[in-house]
Amino acid sequence: MEVARTSNNELAAGIPQTRTLCQHFQKSKQLRLYVKSFLDTGMTNITCPKCRQTWAWQEVRALSLFSSRDQVLYERKLAQMTRDNKESFKKCPGCRSLLQRLDTENLCMECPVCSLKDGKAFQFCWACLSQWEGPSPQGGSCADKSCHVVALLQSCTVITNRSLSVHGCPSIRACPICRVLMVHSGGCKYVTCTNCSTCFCFRCLDKYSDCYNAKPNWYFKPNCEKPLAARQTFASC
Ligand SMILES: [Zn+2]
Ligand SMILES: [Zn+2]
Ligand SMILES: [Zn+2]
Ligand SMILES: [Zn+2]
Ligand SMILES: [Zn+2]
Repeated sequence: MEVARTSNNELAAGIPQTRTLCQHFQKSKQLRLYVKSFLDTGMTNITCPKCRQTWAWQEVRALSLFSSRDQVLYERKLAQMTRDNKESFKKCPGCRSLLQRLDTENLCMECPVCSLKDGKAFQFCWACLSQWEGPSPQGGSCADKSCHVVALLQSCTVITNRSLSVHGCPSIRACPICRVLMVHSGGCKYVTCTNCSTCFCFRCLDKYSDCYNAKPNWYFKPNCEKPLAARQTFASC
């Protein structure tokens, strides 16, 4: 009873439950081989061989079991394998290292890499990637008033139809000027905001004139002079 109450209080205070190694986790050669066997066989959840608890990737990584070169390769592989599992795997908005969320009810996530670098806890909202402002998680969003909208921009599907000029883009973009949400309705890669009439490129998010003038022949092409813009947070719009 006492234990359950403590854990509820911690949740209510927005304290992330990111310490996720059991007492069986001890750095050793066997452990390195064990972890390697998971990653080599394409498994994304690394579990304790004794108690079956899942070990979060960032905690495993922090123990530097592998050479830095192997670490980079494994992280890249894991990011690739889990790219459609945004519930549980995302890159830190601060340092881009891969983080695994085990408690999918808790939106507050702490990045151990950034926390170590900054000398204080770096916490962000799993849904909208903005820096976490306390206190408690409320109804599926953080304290940021744009949380729901940005969560949608972060989690919407990717356009997979190769014949479209917006192939590879998230299906929803926010107008870079007024932030109204837009979908692409066919034809060229430029869309006109229904709210402020700004015409912008659905791929690179530049203004129409800037993107078009850079490559006038590429009007219908699924390419721009600039790279595909990442999923938006309002800090990046
Ligand atoms: Zn264990
Ligand atoms: Zn980080
Ligand atoms: Zn949020
Ligand atoms: Zn607009
Ligand atoms: Zn463009």
